[in-house]
Amino acid sequence: MIRLTWRDLPIGGFVIEPGNARNNLTGTWRTERPVIDQDACIRCRICWMYCPEPAILELNKPYTTRSGKKYDVTYEVDYDHCKGCGICAHECPVKAIKMVPEVGG
Ligand code: SF4
Ligand code: SF4
Repeated sequence: MIRLTWRDLPIGGFVIEPGNARNNLTGTWRTERPVIDQDACIRCRICWMYCPEPAILELNKPYTTRSGKKYDVTYEVDYDHCKGCGICAHECPVKAIKMVPEVGG
């Protein structure tokens, strides 16, 4: 296993490779994870717009709620990259996103 130290960082900590966030699993930073209640979600897209990563996925995946409402789109969390900041839960107008503690390692 290769161990990197501070000496391996670029001077100034610059990010010298654009778009590299895709390659870094920033989800490992998380202490809490957002969980979307698909039945409560009204597909307003606000979480998708506010997520700074972006780690909210807008999927062409039909969903029918327990009350029979049909949607063509589903919002899900990309847990590989979600850092658990909680902005999505804070901004959701119907409180369909709950932050829950990460368990395990
Ligand atoms: S917790 Fe933060 S990083 Fe994760 S999906 Fe919500 S807004 Fe994005
Ligand atoms: S902000 Fe809330 S209601 Fe709107 S799409 Fe996201 S989870 Fe659904």
